[in-house]
Amino acid sequence: MKIDIQKLVRKNILNLKPYSSARDEFEGENGIFLDANENPFGELNRYPDPHQKKIKEKLCALNQIPVENIFLGNGSDEVIDLAFRTFCNPGKDKVLTFAPTYGMYEVSANINDVELINLDLNDDFQIDLETLKPYLNDENLKIIFICSPNNPTGNSIKNIKYILDNFNGIVFIDEAYIDFSPEESFRNQIGKYPNLIVSQTFSKAWGMASVRVGIAYASDEIIKFYNKTKPPYNISQLNQNAILDILNDENIKRVQENIKLILNEKKLLIESLKELELVKKIFPSDANFILVEVENADLIYQKLVNENVIIRNRNSVIKNCLRITIGSPEENIKLIETLQNLM
Ligand code: PMP
Repeated sequence: MKIDIQKLVRKNILNLKPYSSARDEFEGENGIFLDANENPFGELNRYPDPHQKKIKEKLCALNQIPVENIFLGNGSDEVIDLAFRTFCNPGKDKVLTFAPTYGMYEVSANINDVELINLDLNDDFQIDLETLKPYLNDENLKIIFICSPNNPTGNSIKNIKYILDNFNGIVFIDEAYIDFSPEESFRNQIGKYPNLIVSQTFSKAWGMASVRVGIAYASDEIIKFYNKTKPPYNISQLNQNAILDILNDENIKRVQENIKLILNEKKLLIESLKELELVKKIFPSDANFILVEVENADLIYQKLVNENVIIRNRNSVIKNCLRITIGSPEENIKLIETLQNLM
């Protein structure tokens, strides 16, 4: 199946002459810089590298993915929004999601005036291929968003390969939680599927949510269009420095140990929750959170808030379900004790 990315890109983006910043036009590090109307005084007076090369080189070494296949965004929320701005004509094109899932796909669709087709996941929170099939040939369907592990359900999505093999538009796989999962990332498939975008983030397993850096892995062509469309200096120098620091060997080791600790805490938390009468069901999770069905989610949520324990009430999305992020050992014990006291 030959996919022509240029045909998927909006005409205005295809023809766009991107902004050429001072740092695009002169990339050297040494010299007297009188080209960007910066202030000569101060420590944060210079614009940052618009293409964050040092971070990309580290990611390239870490994951064996060429720099040309990596894009960095202001959180993966920017990576999601750029997919709309690059591929979807407002008022004409459509995207497809599987509900329940992460809310920003719908918000980004609404901001960009793009129709959203929302297909329900089945009772196991998996994609029902028979329901999906009729949509795969719709020419105006530009992007299918798949969140795996899925937020808020926590499970990994099967059948992704079928969609990659049978859809000619953009397949956007949101792997925000992949580092907690035993499943392999789809980023290793970008060479095989030119229409694949794999989005990851430093906000979860890397523990850098306040820094706001997300990653897209995709074909050179898609990355080129992303670079054309993004604001010139989308990641600040402070944020680039924080990411460069977390990507040193010692910190990578610490991050990996923390992931193990969180996964072990998840196991302990599930065991303790199972003992509680108010817990009806705990759904399988490959992420750093669990979805729990209780008798009265609104009531339990409010009672926990009264005790200063804040979880996410997902009752409006999945009946009587609460989403609980795995905290530190102390925080998890406090949660369980508070729930025990409620009974
Ligand atoms: N994708 C998913 C599935 C998420 O749950 C979140 C945040 N909760 C994001 C993306 C956004 O992450 P970031 O902090 O990288 O913008």
